[in-house]
Amino acid sequence: MTDLNANVDKLNGYLARFRESGVLNQIAGKACGADSGETFANSSPVDESLICQVAKGSKKDIDAAARAAADAFPAWRDMPALQRKKILLAIADGIVARAEEIAFCECWDTGQALRFMSKAALRGAENFRYFADQVTSARDGQNLASPTLMNITSRVPIGPVGVITPWNTPFMLSTWKIAPALASGCTVVHKPAELSPLSARILVEIAEEAGMPAGVWNMVNGFGEDAGRALTEHEAIKAIAFVGESRTGSLISKQGADTLKRMHLELGGKNPVVVFDDADIDRALDAVIFMIYSINGERCTSSSRLLIQESIRDSFESRLVERVNKIKVGHPLDPATEIGPLIAQEHFDKVTSYFDIASQDGATIAAGGTRVGDTGFFVSPTLFTQANNQMRIAQEEIFGPVLTSIPFKDEAEALQIANDTQYGLTGYVWTKDLTRALRFTDKLEAGMIWVNSENVRHLPTPFGGVKASGIGRDGGDYSFDFYMEQKHVGFALGDHKIPRLGA
Ligand code: NAD
Repeated sequence: MTDLNANVDKLNGYLARFRESGVLNQIAGKACGADSGETFANSSPVDESLICQVAKGSKKDIDAAARAAADAFPAWRDMPALQRKKILLAIADGIVARAEEIAFCECWDTGQALRFMSKAALRGAENFRYFADQVTSARDGQNLASPTLMNITSRVPIGPVGVITPWNTPFMLSTWKIAPALASGCTVVHKPAELSPLSARILVEIAEEAGMPAGVWNMVNGFGEDAGRALTEHEAIKAIAFVGESRTGSLISKQGADTLKRMHLELGGKNPVVVFDDADIDRALDAVIFMIYSINGERCTSSSRLLIQESIRDSFESRLVERVNKIKVGHPLDPATEIGPLIAQEHFDKVTSYFDIASQDGATIAAGGTRVGDTGFFVSPTLFTQANNQMRIAQEEIFGPVLTSIPFKDEAEALQIANDTQYGLTGYVWTKDLTRALRFTDKLEAGMIWVNSENVRHLPTPFGGVKASGIGRDGGDYSFDFYMEQKHVGFALGDHKIPRLGA
């Protein structure tokens, strides 16, 4: 039996329970269908087959979940930190124990290749472990010296929060948001993406098994304009952690305005990778390829614009074409696969529409630019050359395995092109000139930049974007700042003089 056949057998084992009872919501510690009894169909991008039905939550379900989170909040907030830490560590252990099931379901649900999803599942466990270890320091204090008052600053959890996640690497991103929220002492209502609901269900089950008190972690499936909207508008919900498209981010900011929601928005990107002619070209080539063609290019931090110095452009692009043409497109559960299918028909239509747009705008399709197979949403890894930064393929987030190569003459022009975009999530710079790297990164408009490296996430560092790529930061203490309120308490140290009115 091939590895693929064996993996498909295992997958069927893992999917059996979803096929039988669908994907349920989780409210106040109970698995339940939508209040309306309605469901929606969830299908696989690999062969377009139906996987299962999913509970179609709406305003009523969100209300029940938000109330459950509000009821559970005081006890979770006041739970001794060490006890909370124990539960979060048990979730991490639970994820590790079910990592294969999570990875297989994620592959089938999203089309992502197993080689990446196996790692993403374990990264999810790391997210819980990391924030579990931070639980004891989340409630910090700062004593500012004063002759009359002892000033203490502390942090308290903000309250029940809403977490809204997208369909790309949904498991990893959900853990990335939910772990710090729980570690802070917040209770949670999670609304997963409608296109990839499986792993969120497994995750909430792991939490229950780890001893999560009822109502602390609720999960409601459903569509953005219905369940998602109700969550952003609910008055019991104090903050929304959102990951998704920039235009959705703008929409939910408006939706949350009436209830004055605190918002953390992690949005889209059109990230530049800038390769100067003094770079280590072999390593730069590996990184350029990895950062756009891994995870199907369905990755907010992908380097979708290659800015290549004119002096090395021809040789770099021809090596790129050779490598891109060899990337293996196939079944996500085949261990040899490097690119799986795109998430859904609509997204496939969007990504492939750029093949025509590129040609119409005068760019060259140097590699790919085609559909692969007749079923499933497979596309060939694609490279556009002869492009400039005004073209739509350089300005719009395509969110697929599609790279646009743009030449530049010198550092000043590279910087101008890199910053000439509405987005500002990540940037990647390849040069051996340290001073230039420092000068360039200082002026590059991006929330996260790597020099001579692909994107390597370090959990304590700030994660987030500028411009249309988002507002706010995650990671380490930045996450606690979002999920908590700063509080000041002043203690009089003696009978200092109080101004007397009406005396
Ligand atoms: P999306 O904005 O369409 O949907 C994201 C989530 O928002 C889904 O759960 C959806 O149901 C919900 N939603 C939609 N409309 C809503 C509304 N009116 N009110 C409340 N919720 C609503 O995004 P997507 O297509 O699922 O994900 C891809 C996008 O996510 C890309 O733009 C990508 O760059 C971005 N992304 C950003 C980061 C980051 O860290 N910056 C990470 C991953 C993905």
